[in-house]
Amino acid sequence: MAVAMQLKTIREKIENGQRLTFEDGMVLEEKADLFFLAKMAHLVRTRKNGTTAYYNVNVHLNPTNVCVYRCSFCAFRANMDDVRAYVMSDDEILARGADADQRGATEMHIVGGLHNKKPFEWYRHILEIVHKAYPKIHLKAYTAVEWDWFQRLTGRPIKDLLQEFRDVGMGSIPGGGAEIFHEEVRSQICEHKADTAKWFECHREAHKLGIRSNATMLYGHIEKPVHRIDHLIRLRELQEETGGFQTFIPLAFHPNNNKLSHLPKASGVMDLRVMAISRLMLDNFPHIKAYWVMLGIKTAQIALWHGADDIDGTVVHEKIYHDAGSDSPQELTVQEIRHLITEAGFNPLERDTLYQEVIREPNQSWKRRMSLPISQ
Ligand code: SF4
Repeated sequence: MAVAMQLKTIREKIENGQRLTFEDGMVLEEKADLFFLAKMAHLVRTRKNGTTAYYNVNVHLNPTNVCVYRCSFCAFRANMDDVRAYVMSDDEILARGADADQRGATEMHIVGGLHNKKPFEWYRHILEIVHKAYPKIHLKAYTAVEWDWFQRLTGRPIKDLLQEFRDVGMGSIPGGGAEIFHEEVRSQICEHKADTAKWFECHREAHKLGIRSNATMLYGHIEKPVHRIDHLIRLRELQEETGGFQTFIPLAFHPNNNKLSHLPKASGVMDLRVMAISRLMLDNFPHIKAYWVMLGIKTAQIALWHGADDIDGTVVHEKIYHDAGSDSPQELTVQEIRHLITEAGFNPLERDTLYQEVIREPNQSWKRRMSLPISQ
């Protein structure tokens, strides 16, 4: 079929709310120009989220950078005896909680390395002490790779571990560790850590327990278009089964300080193409996030016109992308985020982790408006 006809068929499917196939995804990857992708993704984005662009006020906690694994794209990890290696003490962790509380953060995003010597109980203890001291802050904690590690440490089912951590304060699961699901790529960039089946088992079990989660895809390294489309379709299938994913976050590979440093950084065009194609293929995901720390502020702003409806948060103490060479600032103020959104032509809305609207009082206290519908 001629390209124009293929794109016309895809356009009609999107306009009629029909699902795109794997083959359609490959046409988008290989034959659609950026303008077509932007226009189509914006249609879907507007259908799902109107002119709203979400942001949140959050703080990151990376309790240790010591990691038993050696993913080739990772600039964050360290060996135990590296000068860069660190393990946060309870006091440092609680100080981060105090900082989050003082800043009015509604969320703490907790991910880190898999420490060679730390027992499973240490990871649970972190949640316990933060939740006890700051119960209002939602703890989005531990990627599927970490849950797999906890299973290896304990020999217990992931379901039990999720329940146990939920009981001490875990509120939801971040989407990291997905990288690229296809074995041709995964075996080359992170062969030892949780495999694709484990990643899906973890998220499936979480969803069955009513725990919401996010999903990611690391692009712009050795993967090819076919691997990205495969990745998105696998996520779409689990979402069809459970409905437990909230947000998809495409993550661009950053080439500094890791074993893939010879590769070029993803271009702005690639960032926007992946954003738009993700929006189009993941028709059952409510939200697509332009993570400004990774994209850079300017690209994240423009990504709102390429399918994204969420720009992430004020992000303080982010280490993982900055270690890999991100030149974004460590934080944006709420005023800066709102300005970026309104300047782009959208309406900013502060959300919490579960997409409930956050109401700020003049005295800096905040509450969740429980009635905000999660768009579908
Ligand atoms: S990406 Fe995660 S699991 Fe892999 S080396 Fe880095 S910290 Fe460890």
